[in-house]
Amino acid sequence: MNSIVSQLLKLQQLDLTIRKTGHDLQQIPKQSKLIDEKIKDVKAPWEEALAEMSAIESAGGVEAGLMEMEEKERSLRRKMPEIRTNEEYSALLKEIDATKKEREAVEGRSLKAMERLEELRKSLPKLEAAYKSGEEKVAAERAGLKKEQQRLEALLLEAKKERQALQSSLHPGWFRKYNTIAAQRNGLAVAAVKGGICQGCFMSLRPKLIQDLLYGEEVVFCEGCQRILYLEENQPGS
Ligand SMILES: [Zn+2]
Repeated sequence: MNSIVSQLLKLQQLDLTIRKTGHDLQQIPKQSKLIDEKIKDVKAPWEEALAEMSAIESAGGVEAGLMEMEEKERSLRRKMPEIRTNEEYSALLKEIDATKKEREAVEGRSLKAMERLEELRKSLPKLEAAYKSGEEKVAAERAGLKKEQQRLEALLLEAKKERQALQSSLHPGWFRKYNTIAAQRNGLAVAAVKGGICQGCFMSLRPKLIQDLLYGEEVVFCEGCQRILYLEENQPGS
């Protein structure tokens, strides 16, 4: 094979590897999400319980509010001996009653919150165990995916390095030509010839072009698709 063509073919193989590896790497987050999906049913209840507990705990201000209300009630009661008229007396009783009702409502809510917190605390170890066992079940899958990602990243890096090296050893004119054809032909600038037929556009080559390919002295272009041609080895007629 003509040496320029063999370099351009190598360049094309690297470009295809880079393109495919890049695409494969883009699939990794999607696969990771699929794994997340598998343990969603055991992870969500655990996370929700934790979130609810922390919401109740951070609303601990209820206790402080209660003490203020108790204090207000006491100070209202202390005013009683100073009352002179019936109107003042019934107004004060009303105020005391309202304060008491408010306090009882807060106490009720606070009690409910404490009960709920206790319930959550009790259920947490079971929820956590279920989540952890779910994670254990997908651990091998997660590790496999991570390994695959590392393999692809290494492959991509290697292919890019090789491409860089190849580019600097190629004449810039040939590199430009390759890029121009590749851009016009969906990334395939170099095509094999099998049984006298270009595998890029499936046109038969004139015998003269086959001869030129066999001599391998010059770069031969397909007259149908303008791709750079090479004779595929181990094919009859090559
Ligand atoms: Zn062709």
